[in-house]
Amino acid sequence: MKIADIKTHLLGHNLKRPFGFSQWYYSRRVHLVVEVLTDDGITGLGECYGPADTTRAAIDGFYKPRLKGLDPMRHEFIWNLLWKSSLDYARKGPMMAAISGVDLALWDIKGKALKCPVRRLLGGAPIGKIPCYATGMYFEKGISESRLIRKLLREADGYVRQGYPVIKIKIGKNPTFDRGLIRAMRKTFDHLRIAADANHAYNLKEALAIGHVLEENDFEWFEEPVSPEHYADYGVLRRQLAVKVAGGECEQTRFGFQQLLSRRSVDIAQPDLAYAGGITEAIKIHALANASGVDVIPHCWGTRINQAAAASFITMLHENPGRLEAGAALLEADCTENPVRDGLCSTHHEIRNGHIHFNHEPGLGVELDRKALRKFTV
Ligand code: MG
Repeated sequence: MKIADIKTHLLGHNLKRPFGFSQWYYSRRVHLVVEVLTDDGITGLGECYGPADTTRAAIDGFYKPRLKGLDPMRHEFIWNLLWKSSLDYARKGPMMAAISGVDLALWDIKGKALKCPVRRLLGGAPIGKIPCYATGMYFEKGISESRLIRKLLREADGYVRQGYPVIKIKIGKNPTFDRGLIRAMRKTFDHLRIAADANHAYNLKEALAIGHVLEENDFEWFEEPVSPEHYADYGVLRRQLAVKVAGGECEQTRFGFQQLLSRRSVDIAQPDLAYAGGITEAIKIHALANASGVDVIPHCWGTRINQAAAASFITMLHENPGRLEAGAALLEADCTENPVRDGLCSTHHEIRNGHIHFNHEPGLGVELDRKALRKFTV
């Protein structure tokens, strides 16, 4: 079997209602889907996280000519070949996102060729479902902060009713708003597991102050408290706060995660498989995290393809299946408005009652709906 061609699909949609977090507001979502075609008719699906048009140029212009004719089963060899071919000028960034999307597609091909789900290839736990946490509760423009908090409480209540065992709110708007939101969430949902994501809004002192509010209110974790350029400050927060510190969605490769882990910066490492280097690299990142006593909960933001890759990977994360079942490993379920995520795949693993339920398809277990693909293509 040889790689015959690579196709990239730039997909997008405008949002009915823009939503925001500590850094900016989204009015449009875009996605980059990768298809790796083989000469024996098997096609693998992958996805890249990050700036879709730039990442697409990296695949089409740079990596594609290097991939044609290679044996797609050699994922490790191919990863190293692509990485070495661009190492001089692209150790991180969209080019690694491009390698990630190709790598996910190679794992999908491997599973389809061997008629085996990727989670079985990874040797994961024999579980049919994984608990998810609901990512949502984004900011909205043009309404007062007190109204926004009431709206976020209603949104959170919806996720609880849908059966999500954990939810994650956005903070980092400003310290006063954050304090009000954190306390209102805890007061309304007294036993719910709630995490908070600041998307690196703060400096160290501000993060420390908000971290204390999170620990007083028994929050699950404090995600990206400060800039990912300041891993030493993450370490200070981790030592001084009882609440777990999480980070890593901006980081890539085992080498990048080694920087994060060697400074003892986080309790939870959050590689995105569609950005950090694919499944091939995520296995190594997990090994490093495990050796540092750090849990891995992948970041997942995109379509059902990245969701399938993350869920498959999660099955291999814990030596103790009891911990897995107790929700030590969670799939991030982005619950924001996204017709591409919801409509692109005719086959996928379904999320219901707050859990992702695996289908029995080989590979990643996802297939494109061609009509939807045409509809969303930019
Ligand atoms: Mg985040």
